[in-house]
Amino acid sequence: MRTRMVPGEEINGGRKRLGNNLEAYEWLALMAAKGWTVPTWPVEFGGAGLSAEEFTVLLEELQRINARPPLGGMGVSMLGPTLLEYGTEAQKQQHLPGIAKGEVAWCQGYSEPGAGSDLASLQTRAEDQGDHFLVNGSKIWTSGAQHADWMFCLVRTDPSRPKHEGISFLLFDMESPGVTTRPISLINGESPFCETFFDNLRVPKSQLLGPLNQGWPIGKRLLQHERSGLSVLANGDRAGPLERILPSQPLEQLVQSYAGLSPSDPHLRNLIVRSDMEKRAFLLTQKRALQESESETPGAATSIFKVVEANYVKAQLELQLLIRGTQGLGWEGETFSDEERAMCRLWLEAKSISIAGGSNEIQFNIIAKRVLGLPD
Ligand SMILES: Cc1cc2nc3c(=O)[nH]c(=O)nc-3n(C[C@H](O)[C@H](O)[C@H](O)COP(=O)(O)OP(=O)(O)OC[C@H]3O[C@@H](n4cnc5c(N)ncnc54)[C@H](O)[C@@H]3O)c2cc1C
Repeated sequence: MRTRMVPGEEINGGRKRLGNNLEAYEWLALMAAKGWTVPTWPVEFGGAGLSAEEFTVLLEELQRINARPPLGGMGVSMLGPTLLEYGTEAQKQQHLPGIAKGEVAWCQGYSEPGAGSDLASLQTRAEDQGDHFLVNGSKIWTSGAQHADWMFCLVRTDPSRPKHEGISFLLFDMESPGVTTRPISLINGESPFCETFFDNLRVPKSQLLGPLNQGWPIGKRLLQHERSGLSVLANGDRAGPLERILPSQPLEQLVQSYAGLSPSDPHLRNLIVRSDMEKRAFLLTQKRALQESESETPGAATSIFKVVEANYVKAQLELQLLIRGTQGLGWEGETFSDEERAMCRLWLEAKSISIAGGSNEIQFNIIAKRVLGLPD
């Protein structure tokens, strides 16, 4: 667990156990037993109840031994913190321990064919049927829906109200009758996300998070957790996109491995040093913002992290392509190494990073309005 995590070994939790490294599950079990998959959560919900200072010490020690993050996924990074803020006692007890142990994988039902950037226009309808809601409609781009156990979902519960005020936040089991998923292919050849359909899906009232018709602020708060990229903060560059884009050798050495480019090429050296500085500045800024914020996830400023991280990841992969030249453009075939093929597909996949979780343009709008206080 001190070696680099290769694709397929990461664990995002769930009954389907998709990770292909059994030792990673042992590591998960050991860390979960100490509450260290979610160290700052209360002990009763599967955490270790650590203070921010203790958490920092734990992270430093884990980084010092080069340990892998034991658990990722939307439960840990998005829904869990939101449930801690808004959930009832019963909801916390039902859902949080399963997330902390990596037993339940969650997916996010926000976007719809007619509601992406303008999310509040969503049309998936949930009708009050007494003890349950009857849900009909569809979602799109639902990451991991085909593997997820549960979904957190924004639905319209009152179409007569202004659009932001008729939305509620529901939780449901993906095995419920009436839920179907259809995977969509991404440019890199994989199907990381789906169209998701709801056909007379029954959701018990107990799974309404927050008050009826007041799901919008909760949904937005969850997006701040998503955009904060704190999984990266928690593990340096050993989690999330920053981990995945690391080549097997430092960029300076990578340059030497490919003919035609001299490591002393001043232009290339400049790009490599700049890329390194940007990453360090990014990680330090995240740390500072977290220390300065009152709660565990900073507010609208998380949009800044989202944009900077997306731009950094894309630029870093472009840089690797520049270094590898045409060898960096291999899709398949033996003339390309595994790493060359994987990085080419990642370079294509990374085009989506400035769209997923809210496009860069939308983040700029949020920064302008909510961080800089500019007029609408
Ligand atoms: C890899 C990936 C994974 C995803 N996973 C999920 C998921 O798990 N769950 C989920 O619910 N969704 C998911 N999404 C969907 C994602 O949130 C949306 O794609 C995103 O919010 C943009 O919405 P859209 O695709 O409808 O584009 P549109 O909203 O149609 O935007 C089209 C273009 O117009 C621009 N634009 C739109 N409005 C404005 C404005 N007001 N000002 C300036 N520019 C604007 C946008 O920046 C964009 O360039 C995922 C997307 C991707 C790419």
